[in-house]
Amino acid sequence: MPDPGGEIRETSELSLLEKNSALEEWLRWQLGQVQKRVRDLRQASELSLLEKNLALEEWLRWQLGQVQKRVRDLEEQKHAAPRWKIQQKTETAPPVLHRGDCELYEARLGYIDREYALVAVTMPDIRSCEACRPDIGLSQE
Ligand SMILES: [Zn+2]
Repeated sequence: MPDPGGEIRETSELSLLEKNSALEEWLRWQLGQVQKRVRDLRQASELSLLEKNLALEEWLRWQLGQVQKRVRDLEEQKHAAPRWKIQQKTETAPPVLHRGDCELYEARLGYIDREYALVAVTMPDIRSCEACRPDIGLSQE
C-alpha cells in the first residue's frame, strides 16, 4: 500500500475510529435486542430458540468487546502526545528541529514534548526541518 502521508493518515485513523464507534453502537443495540428476546423466550419456555439466542448473545458480547478494545486503541492513538526531536548540530550545520515521525533524522537522544519544542522553535540557532515543517501547528492551541 502506498504511504499517503501524515495528514491523510490522520484522517483515515479518525474515520476508522468513527466507523468502529458506529459499529460499537450497532452491536450494543443488537445485544439489547437479543437480550430482550432471551428474556421473552425464557418466559415462554422456548428452549431450542432460547439456546440459539443465548449463543447469539454470547457472540455479540464477544464482538462488542473486540470493537470496544479497538475503539480504545484508536482513541489512545488519537490522543497520543505529538513529539519532536532535535538533530544535534554538526561542524557545518546548525541543530535542526524535526517532528517525531520525520524520516530525515532518527532520534538518538530521545524525543522532546510540545513545551520544549515551542522553546526550540523560537531559538535563532535552531533551524526547522524543511521536510516535516515542525513549526507548523506548533504554536497553535
Ligand atoms: Zn524533519
